[in-house]
Amino acid sequence: MKITARCGECNEEQSLEVDGLAYSKFVLREGLVQNLFPDLSASERELIMGARNKFGYYCASCWDKMFPLEDEELRPVGLLISWLRRVTRRQR
Ligand SMILES: [Zn+2]
Repeated sequence: MKITARCGECNEEQSLEVDGLAYSKFVLREGLVQNLFPDLSASERELIMGARNKFGYYCASCWDKMFPLEDEELRPVGLLISWLRRVTRRQR
């Protein structure tokens, strides 16, 4: 099945063809993204999470611009920072 998520920075919609069964399991929180989609890259997994959560998704190129970090462990931290930035921008 095809899933889509809109990038919170450039507003581009990205889509990805994924296994429907694995995606349903992910939506129902029956498994972790890295276990259900072991063959996907980090940015593709990001898209899957964005498609489920409907927020906090950034495409690979925006992500690299905002957080030029090599370490995948730091991605959740980057996501939190970007979310806070969006919230404060909205309040202005
Ligand atoms: Zn983007």
